Amino acid sequence: MSDFSGLSRRRFIATAGAASGAVLLKGCFGNPPSPANLSPRAEAMTLSPATTPEVSNIKLGYIAIAESAPLIIAREKGFFDRYGMTGVDVSKQASWGAARDNIEIGSEGGGIDGGQWQMPMPHLISEGLITKGSRKIPMVLLAQLSTQGNGIAIATKHEGKGFGLDIGKSGAGDYIKQMSQNGTPFKAAYTFPKVNQDFWIRYWLAAGGVDPNKDLNLIAVPAAQTVANMRTGSMDGFSTGDPWPYRIIKDRRKIGFMAALTAQMWPAHPEEYLALRRDWIEKHPIATKAILKAVMEAQQWCDDPKNREEMVRILATRKYFNVPTDFLRGPYEGHYIMGDSKPEVKDPNLGIKYWKDIRGSVSYPYKSHDLWFLTESVRWGFLPEGVLGESKRIIDTVSGEKYWREAAQEIGIPAADIPQSTSRGLEKFFDGVEFNPENPKAYLDSLKIKSIKA
Ligand code: CA
Repeated sequence: MSDFSGLSRRRFIATAGAASGAVLLKGCFGNPPSPANLSPRAEAMTLSPATTPEVSNIKLGYIAIAESAPLIIAREKGFFDRYGMTGVDVSKQASWGAARDNIEIGSEGGGIDGGQWQMPMPHLISEGLITKGSRKIPMVLLAQLSTQGNGIAIATKHEGKGFGLDIGKSGAGDYIKQMSQNGTPFKAAYTFPKVNQDFWIRYWLAAGGVDPNKDLNLIAVPAAQTVANMRTGSMDGFSTGDPWPYRIIKDRRKIGFMAALTAQMWPAHPEEYLALRRDWIEKHPIATKAILKAVMEAQQWCDDPKNREEMVRILATRKYFNVPTDFLRGPYEGHYIMGDSKPEVKDPNLGIKYWKDIRGSVSYPYKSHDLWFLTESVRWGFLPEGVLGESKRIIDTVSGEKYWREAAQEIGIPAADIPQSTSRGLEKFFDGVEFNPENPKAYLDSLKIKSIKA
């Protein structure tokens, strides 16, 4: 009897070992991991009447890219529940256009109450500039979700042409212009017009002497379709964010390579933001702060290297990004395989950050960054020049700085981590250009390539 049970036990151990081995192998060969073996969720706070949210549910949209991690982590690790928001629905959006349409109808109409946005989408939605029938949907910007983690990918067929950070010096800028003169213009994509990804590729092109309005075709195409088109050779470039760069580089079919990272173009640049509908916030100010507190905790959790493996495992699952964990590990360590015989980038300061970066707070929604997005919109004629005269009103109306500061104080964020000013001050780009938020016109005057409209 004892022999028999001993044998069973050995058999059981052998079988269990083989099973876990199989899981590991699956992970290595590119299947998304299962969310097993996670550390415990955050414990609930004892809430007073002043901190008990008016409602416990909200519907937040996200796009399956690295910027959304604080929302996903706040949900999965129990940070939302901790502050009484036990019914937060973190809802995957099919595209930026879908997110825009869903905010317009709100959760009552089957849409969303807020979520993750490229900039300046909250301002454009508030002003009724990208909504159906130009309807104004006032929004409030509560926090920046992340910095860095975006870049410019180029199709494999353009290897060896000097595509890097500075295409003016390397000859790749002339190569793009030559393609246009030959009647086969370079074709590049972003996922939604007049926001971050469009700005990043325009800045990079123009710094290299290429006019994005004249010297190539720049168009809005969904990410998956762009990558498929790069593979077949009908798309030449893509302004994109993690984990797409790894999807492109590591694909066996050699889809493309990375020319530049946004972290190299503008270290610690503003990226994507958390914003909610103003009508929701006005009805639920305590719940608004509860959401912010949870997101702030999640941002700190995400930046802590000891949580990295767990974070990567959660994000990589089929439910969220549906990628191998390998595709996410690199970007968080600032490790990028660039391809095209370029050296690998290995610098933790160039990785994705959620809470703190080399300039201080990532999470704080600086008005000076809203102003850069509006100024860049004027640079490319997306908004008329007169918007600069109105920028204070537009930015003040959308800013949720007040909520950020109160939430930070209520959860005991150290004073040193709460910015003193609403301006981060002077911003410096890789090509030597500077943006002084005190004088956006001087920035516009300093730029050679632009298409300002009166
Ligand atoms: Ca982005």
